[in-house]
Amino acid sequence: MTQADSKAYYNHFFQARLDDLHKEGRYRVFANIERIVGRYPKALFRGENGMEKEITVWCSNDYLGMGHHPDVIAAVCDTVKNNGAGAGGTRNISGTTNHHILLEKELADLHRKEAALLFSSGYVSNESALGTLAKLLPDCVIFSDEMNHASMIQGIRQSGCEKFIFRHNDVGHLRSLISSVERCRPKLIAFESVYSMDGDIAPIAEFCDIAEEFGAMTYLDEVHAVGMYGKRGGGIAEREGLMPRLDVIEGTLGKAFGLMGGYISGTQAVVDVVRSYAPGFIFTTALPPAVLSGALASVRHLKNNGTELRKKHQARAATLKRILTEAGLPVMPSATHIVPVMIGDPRLCKQASDKLLEQFDIYVQPINYPTVPRGTERLRLTPSPFHTDADMHALAAALQQVIPAQKPAKVKLRQVA
Ligand SMILES: *Cc1c(COP(=O)(O)O)cnc(C)c1O
Repeated sequence: MTQADSKAYYNHFFQARLDDLHKEGRYRVFANIERIVGRYPKALFRGENGMEKEITVWCSNDYLGMGHHPDVIAAVCDTVKNNGAGAGGTRNISGTTNHHILLEKELADLHRKEAALLFSSGYVSNESALGTLAKLLPDCVIFSDEMNHASMIQGIRQSGCEKFIFRHNDVGHLRSLISSVERCRPKLIAFESVYSMDGDIAPIAEFCDIAEEFGAMTYLDEVHAVGMYGKRGGGIAEREGLMPRLDVIEGTLGKAFGLMGGYISGTQAVVDVVRSYAPGFIFTTALPPAVLSGALASVRHLKNNGTELRKKHQARAATLKRILTEAGLPVMPSATHIVPVMIGDPRLCKQASDKLLEQFDIYVQPINYPTVPRGTERLRLTPSPFHTDADMHALAAALQQVIPAQKPAKVKLRQVA
């Protein structure tokens, strides 16, 4: 090929892969929204040709609105003024600040662990920690829940270890897989507490029983639970008194805590070995001080004063489930604050979302494959403490208009644990 030919070939090839996504109805279009402090969950939507309008956001992972909390905003602004915009280096080379140290201490305490370690994101924390820990253990075998997040799957791949996938939240299946492996081999069981697309919860205690029986490490992703569950916002493991039984608890600063960044917590040795060996931790610029001081304010607020907000959040979610169910909508059973509405087809899901935005000023992003299995495409609603009854009734009425009448009969809803 000449240079001109090959350039055309590459572009043509990539365009064809995009066409595949269009044909399947799962080409992703991002909504341009501007969140406005004091108006949460309202935001400004910018459409084509300069169109602007106010919308209600129903799919934010800033579950508790902490990204707009006055203490958080004040902490971020003060730190930018005093310490500047960026960290200025990797953690190893000039990028570690007192903000990093303080927040790691606070997060270790949140999960009652010896130590914690910050990463650029929750994604990176899973990829780095799972990849590194399992790779270092000689001949390690990983047991992974089939619904685990892409970041955990990526970490498991990177470890290069043998792996077994157990059926979602299935204690019996995990037991039968783990008992088929030689007892002397190191083992790691990786799972989440709250699964973010169905809103169900793992049988953490039973998984810990198996881990103890078979001598496995436990790795728990609490990304969709930290800040929201437990007396101090330590997650489901805190709520159920299970934190000491888990070897690694991983979380994010990007969801209920309202900023960005991820972390792991565990023993001094586990945290130090990831700090010392994980490329995804070592070879990247440290998080900016302002993000960290904002996160510290958020974690502290939810730890010391978060009970009312957590109660309100749960109560709002319960009300939304009731209102949508009474309106005859296909609400999936959920044990948590996450309220999925089943559509069961990627094109219909996107169409429903488009209509909600165009005709009803309601923003809820369609959730399609590969985020969820094909045939289980859905609208995933995340009610916050600030969504009113009026917002909920407006949503129910709009959903009745945009959801196609035929039942998604092929779809079998999974039992909630
Ligand atoms: C969002 C998410 C992550 C990644 O966290 P980020 O901080 O957004 O990178 C990890 N695990 C699960 C289960 C998630 O849903």
